[in-house]
Amino acid sequence: MQVNATGVATIDHGKSRTWREFVGRVTRLAATFLDTGLEPGGRVAMLAWNGSTYLEYYYATFWAGGVAVPINTRWAIPEISFALTDSGARILIVDDHFAALAPDLLAAAPDVRALIFAGDGPAPAGALRWDALIAGAEPVPDAGRGWDDLAGIFYTGGTTGRSKGVMLSHGNLITNGMAEAIWLNMRQSSSYLHAAPSFHLADAAAGFAMTAVAGTHVFVDAFDPAEVLRAIADSGATHLLLVPTMIQMLIEHPGFSPDQAASVETIFYGGSPMSEALLERALAALPRARFVQAYGMTETSAIATILEPDFHVTHGPNAGRLRSAGRPASHVGLRIVDAEDRPLPAGEVGEILVRGPNITAGYWNQPDLSASALRNGWMHTGDVGYLADDGFLYVVDRLKDMIISGGENVYSAEVENAIAQHPAVRMCAVIGIPDPRWGEAVHAVVWPIADAEVTSDAIIAHCRRHIAGYKCPRSVDVTDQPVPLSAAGKILKNVLREPYWRGHDKHVH
Ligand code: ATP
Ligand code: MG
Repeated sequence: MQVNATGVATIDHGKSRTWREFVGRVTRLAATFLDTGLEPGGRVAMLAWNGSTYLEYYYATFWAGGVAVPINTRWAIPEISFALTDSGARILIVDDHFAALAPDLLAAAPDVRALIFAGDGPAPAGALRWDALIAGAEPVPDAGRGWDDLAGIFYTGGTTGRSKGVMLSHGNLITNGMAEAIWLNMRQSSSYLHAAPSFHLADAAAGFAMTAVAGTHVFVDAFDPAEVLRAIADSGATHLLLVPTMIQMLIEHPGFSPDQAASVETIFYGGSPMSEALLERALAALPRARFVQAYGMTETSAIATILEPDFHVTHGPNAGRLRSAGRPASHVGLRIVDAEDRPLPAGEVGEILVRGPNITAGYWNQPDLSASALRNGWMHTGDVGYLADDGFLYVVDRLKDMIISGGENVYSAEVENAIAQHPAVRMCAVIGIPDPRWGEAVHAVVWPIADAEVTSDAIIAHCRRHIAGYKCPRSVDVTDQPVPLSAAGKILKNVLREPYWRGHDKHVH
């Protein structure tokens, strides 16, 4: 970290701490982790909402030579217990929101030796208190872990099924952090608002980049549009990371005004496809912000490709790229291949492969899955896309979301992009459902804006004007229920597909 001892490191519920204070707390907390018997490479799990303690947790774990295992806050007890036992966590940290779960979790995870409470309310039985630990400890020297040493096990978003524990080394995280700091134009005077969940690698990685330049971290407990707007106004945050559904909730919030978000210089987004219609609305709603898109995944320590602010325009020589995910970050190799891993020429759709110093060494405890994802020196992303002649990547779908209807590939994201242009549509999801004649049929779930009159026929007719007939939905479910979202704000198509595929075999692409 650059020396900025008196600069503000964290702002949490109005309380600020300098970098000097932050480092003091982290190095003491690391001492207490070691006191519990944590060994080099020992796993430290954290189950908490966002806050400055989350950042202290990451750095104290690294400082002590441990491996961070951030836990998804939406998981049910069996999923949390699985992650604790799968990772062999030695220390479990919980905040106020999860204190009540601690006894059940400890019973299910016998490897846990120490329970630490990072909250303000009543501590669970047998727990050590965060601030008391810090107050009672002396700083220890950095454990000095190396480039290839494991830094964290980051469970994937669980969008397509059970989460996988992605092993990321210090080298992976540093490579990505440096790239983010540069691409997002982070400086010592910048401040990053942790609005996306801190257990997710995307938020953690943006945070590591901000720490690298010794800027400021601002926290809200969890993503809530009103809270985020308030935190921006209070703190003057300059950098935000949001998935497309969060951008939509923010700009549609009744309390939103461009002036309130005037301090925001950079909006970093990605994580799922964003319709051109929504992106154009976001650009208009936040005219002063620079938009940066990343395509990437937990397995790439966050970033694989970047679409810079210059290409977020609807007019001029750089226009026409709003649907692109940009070009590979400087350290990333990228190719598009067919089912036999043969490289495809520009314009042809195939699986996206990536390689580089930011790529995971594999999935924790899953050698077979690791070997199949990391074949022939490349990470197989499970996403499909194409490279245009100018080298820009277009992500067209996830392999698992692609619909094969009557032998034709239909990319769900393309159909969603068409549906999203209908003015009455708030959110939509396109899935394949079993069909005796076509194998799969295109089905859309549409959540209209409040009070809008929209019928399934109108949606289908709208699609016919925008995309080829075989891509148009054969059925549309207009629902007054919000579409189900993951903790990271991604649409859970698995959940939407499940009732249709019960009793059928969903083909494997
Ligand atoms: P799981 O692997 O458990 O199903 P997940 O893939 O959602 O969950 P993440 O690693 O958080 O977990 O997400 C990475 C995925 O998000 C990518 O593989 C891709 O499908 C999607 N994605 C990320 N960025 C973009 C983007 N800019 N455009 C389109 N899709 C994106
Ligand atoms: Mg994934």
